[in-house]
Amino acid sequence: MKKVKVGIVGLGRLGKKYAEDLVYRVHQAEVLAACSLQEEERTYAKEKLGIPYVFTKYEDMLALEEIDTFFVVSPTTFHVAHIIQALEAGKHVFSEKPLGIELSRCLEVERVAKKYPKLICMVGFVRRFDPSYVYAKEKIEKGLIGKPFLVKSQTVDLDETAGFQMEFVKTSGGMFHDYNVHDIDLARWYLGSEVKQVFSTGGAFKYPEFAEVNDADNVLSTCVFEDGSMAQLIASRTAAHGHDTYTEIVGTEGILRIGRPSASTRVQIMDRHGARYECVSTFYDRFKDAFLLMTQEFISYILENKAPKLTLRDATQATRVASAMTESLFLGKGLVQLEAIAPD
Ligand code: NAD
Repeated sequence: MKKVKVGIVGLGRLGKKYAEDLVYRVHQAEVLAACSLQEEERTYAKEKLGIPYVFTKYEDMLALEEIDTFFVVSPTTFHVAHIIQALEAGKHVFSEKPLGIELSRCLEVERVAKKYPKLICMVGFVRRFDPSYVYAKEKIEKGLIGKPFLVKSQTVDLDETAGFQMEFVKTSGGMFHDYNVHDIDLARWYLGSEVKQVFSTGGAFKYPEFAEVNDADNVLSTCVFEDGSMAQLIASRTAAHGHDTYTEIVGTEGILRIGRPSASTRVQIMDRHGARYECVSTFYDRFKDAFLLMTQEFISYILENKAPKLTLRDATQATRVASAMTESLFLGKGLVQLEAIAPD
């Protein structure tokens, strides 16, 4: 069986999960190399995962000729550079979201990718690979809920992660680029239109430290799309009950709701605290299966020489909207009209 030879940059919270999936569960992949700034992560890759080559410098890993594709799971502020370097080295690229935090840099990635039409380059919006989100999309395409005109979607994290987020925010681009970028992508996908207007509000209600770094712990945005459809998107770092990702699509003939309750099992507990479900704690608990499906699918694109349905332009559009939300709230611009971008 032909195997796709992989190099991965970033072995942190999420990169380690990709590496484990690629080593143990994606049988058509072989991980040859991994790169991390942290020594303990490199040791883990070499000794526990059996990855033969480990690097501190990405440039050194790029020079490995045998590699077919790089997985970019480095901090957000490095994605654009790491993707462009991989393409210029002649390799397929998978990158974690978001593509970037500036629209101009995302367009630059698109320009470079166009120079290498034989290389596959995809930014992984994991919810598009989650079976429930995929099922909802199929129902919409079959006309089950008529014409969708409103998406309500939220990315809500357990409060325990807020401490970690104070550090992470330095490279994440803030709540809109880091959290709501998923919801923006879903709203575009389900509504089939582009955002033309946004208004965002929010604040550092529980953790004033976030305001000091020009970010927030809870935000809310309203989007108007070119065809008049709407989205209401929420992000939070302060949920007491668990990781609570939820999406609702309202159409002229019905409504689809995905993800409630954010239960970790189907067991309802009835005890002195009432009737309740235990919730998933992290994004990874919720989307573990989708991460694996997405990785398998990306590897199959390479083997079958197939273009991904999820395009670089999708990723650019998500950044464009997240940037407008950032301007609306953090630059105090209020209602922001988005400039259309030239077709790709
Ligand atoms: P992390 O901070 O835990 O790990 C970052 C990794 O990148 C570390 O291994 C570090 O050594 C490495 N690194 C940092 N700078 C580097 C450089 N210049 N060259 C090479 N390696 C470098 O980060 P994380 O939480 O794993 O997040 C990584 C990316 O994954 C982010 O872009 C984030 O947006 C994305 N992410 C997505 C989801 C999702 O739901 N899809 C969830 C979490 C994180």
